[in-house]
Amino acid sequence: MERFVQRPDVARVLGHGDTKSSVELLHGVQADLRILPPERYGTALSYFTGSQAHNIRLREMARQRGLSLNEHEFSHLEGEGAPILCATEEAVYAMLDLPWIPPELREDRGEIEAAQAGSLPQLIRLADIRGDFHMHTTASDGLLSLREMVEAARARGLRCIVITDHSRSQRIANGLTIERLLEQQQAVRAIDAEYSDITVLHGSEVDILPDGTLDFPDEVLAQLDLVVASLHLSLDQPREKVTARMLNAVRNPHVDIIGHMRGQLIMRREPADLDMDVVLEAAQTSSVALEINANPARLDFGSCLCTARAEMGIKIAINTDAHSAADFELLPFGIGTARRAWLSAEQVINTGKLTDCWHG
Ligand SMILES: [Zn+2]
Ligand SMILES: [Zn+2]
Repeated sequence: MERFVQRPDVARVLGHGDTKSSVELLHGVQADLRILPPERYGTALSYFTGSQAHNIRLREMARQRGLSLNEHEFSHLEGEGAPILCATEEAVYAMLDLPWIPPELREDRGEIEAAQAGSLPQLIRLADIRGDFHMHTTASDGLLSLREMVEAARARGLRCIVITDHSRSQRIANGLTIERLLEQQQAVRAIDAEYSDITVLHGSEVDILPDGTLDFPDEVLAQLDLVVASLHLSLDQPREKVTARMLNAVRNPHVDIIGHMRGQLIMRREPADLDMDVVLEAAQTSSVALEINANPARLDFGSCLCTARAEMGIKIAINTDAHSAADFELLPFGIGTARRAWLSAEQVINTGKLTDCWHG
């Protein structure tokens, strides 16, 4: 406790006791430390992991069994029985006849019922990701050359990457003209031939222009291995217009992935006002995958994606949109979003299987 309250990143000590202390950190986040005996760890961990809605359900289930549940223990509502301690979360759930539920699902959005029915999803893990299909080099606004990017991806353990620099309308980002794009393709083919442990494919992050057309004509897109289509311009168009624009991209047979769906950058750029029901429906009947952009400033999906996973057949790609080597480290945030949306590896296109296919 002494060490905790004296950390150099502590701005203010809010409370300081033997088993419980609270501090406010320099960047404004509050952090608490609690000390408890190992045999009580499970109840405390599940209680503080939450969410509140999920915990309320657990307490109700405990009551149905004549027990009350709090952060310390299960106790009997009537009689003199000794309290029941749980050293692990598994033990807490077992008391309620449930299997352990992954923290990302604990929202009371059907996870209790799924656990009771034995139908909890096998959630995607970081290790399932084998490819990254959206990244930039110095050809547009990335910080690394093509070769440096390939080396960074290899160092990260990726087996397949797609180079997707910006298209020609992104002038501030030095978007590629058709001529530069086709030159880049030769360079990508040459570098791909050099490596046996990673596949390097050539694509583009093509702008969905304000009038709904794509920034390259279909005959150019057809020459690419993979096309990411993204909204960057005129995000503030009225709902109907921006939705129609997105639908054009979703329905274009050359488009493989819709990049960072709503185009937002949290606290910097407002999201496009897309009619997500309409877009998800169109995605379901097309072969396009929707991107979970791993950049935490994006978070285009929220509950929308949770709806999407319930509707069968919408493919998802989890990409870092890397502009530097460090950006590959954003992937865990994308995985976190996918897990919150109940996704398994099979629903995500850049997991083992498909990458292996491409490899072969
Ligand atoms: Zn983009
Ligand atoms: Zn991008």
